[in-house]
Amino acid sequence: MNFIAEALNLPPSSARRLEERNIVRPALINHPFFPDILEAYCLGKKFGEFEEGILVVRTENASIIVRGYPKIRRALTLYPTVKRRFKGDVVIEEKMNGYNVRIVNFGENIYAVTRRGFICPYTTEKARESFNPDFFKGFPEFMLCCEAVGEESPFVPKKIYGIKGIDFFVFDIRDMRTNIALPLNIKMSLSEEYGFKIAPVLSETEAEKAHEKIKSIILELGARGREGVVIKDPQMKVEPLKYTSSQSNCGDLNYAFRYFNEYAKDFMLSRIVREAFQSFEFEEDEEELRKRCLRLGEAILIPIIRSIEDVSKGNKVVEEHRLKFRNLEVLELFKEHLRRMGIDANYSEPEIEDGYHILKFERYMKSTADKISHLVKGNVW
Ligand code: ATP
Ligand code: MG
Repeated sequence: MNFIAEALNLPPSSARRLEERNIVRPALINHPFFPDILEAYCLGKKFGEFEEGILVVRTENASIIVRGYPKIRRALTLYPTVKRRFKGDVVIEEKMNGYNVRIVNFGENIYAVTRRGFICPYTTEKARESFNPDFFKGFPEFMLCCEAVGEESPFVPKKIYGIKGIDFFVFDIRDMRTNIALPLNIKMSLSEEYGFKIAPVLSETEAEKAHEKIKSIILELGARGREGVVIKDPQMKVEPLKYTSSQSNCGDLNYAFRYFNEYAKDFMLSRIVREAFQSFEFEEDEEELRKRCLRLGEAILIPIIRSIEDVSKGNKVVEEHRLKFRNLEVLELFKEHLRRMGIDANYSEPEIEDGYHILKFERYMKSTADKISHLVKGNVW
């Protein structure tokens, strides 16, 4: 605890509050796979200036903090929100749909930190295979903020990117202590130099007129099932904005309604509201509006009906995953990691395929299943 307060430079009174509020969580499972770390903790809530998901690590010769990835605010209408926030040019990047990972280096190795500040064994194993470690020899204080996407994502499995395993797309390079982001042109040149994939840059345009351009990009991305865009200041001095396609809003709803009792009502309401603002702004004709209504209605009802069918046939409501590991011990670590994150799952015995250990698991959505089962037996809501 002491080293956390010290690393964060907290006065004794704040350090006490940190302890009392019980927001410090162990961020890793000690194991030789993480040889450079003596202790690691993360914050489960925002604390003063520190974001949720900040990580504090003690290595043999230093205490290191890795700041949380900042929240990105959302535009509900493109006009006038974009031109009000930005002056001059904006860069429009694709918002990729996976999970947020910060790649950092401690001692001799690369580590992958997920959004809430945990060091993830699976993602770390994959990151060590993907990233050129020379980058951190030159820039030990930087973190690579990326989206991890692909079919073998333990959190957000997606087929739309055509990535069978998991791949990392860098979207920001930040100083891990101050959270200051490099200007986008430097991010791009460093990524090119070290062979990192980046989130696609779709356009650079004047903020004044960006709403038209973004609208056409969003329609095109949506038609391909892609999530949306993040609108950024080229210098990264102004905080970015995000905006998503209707297909992505509906994709979220589809997921949330299948597991409706695990998801907060806010999650669902906010996505429905987004659809309304988009429809309003895009001045849709009757046919386009009808299509949107159908898409939204299907996204809400069809998944719930499927869940009710599953439960009434005596099946569980599950989400299926398949991951591959080089190292069997990392596979076991990852199971323990999920357990600590409160994820309830049913694991198959690992199988070997092409030199990898394959882990299949079903994430059990107990709350939704119990609710449905209760109702179909004749109980009242
Ligand atoms: P938050 O709004 O707190 O950032 P969230 O999980 O609710 O988190 P999302 O709606 O997924 O947020 O949008 C923000 C996330 O988008 C980022 O945390 C990042 O993981 C992801 N992302 C994907 N592509 C980009 C990109 N090009 N630039 C920035 N973030 C991106
Ligand atoms: Mg996301």
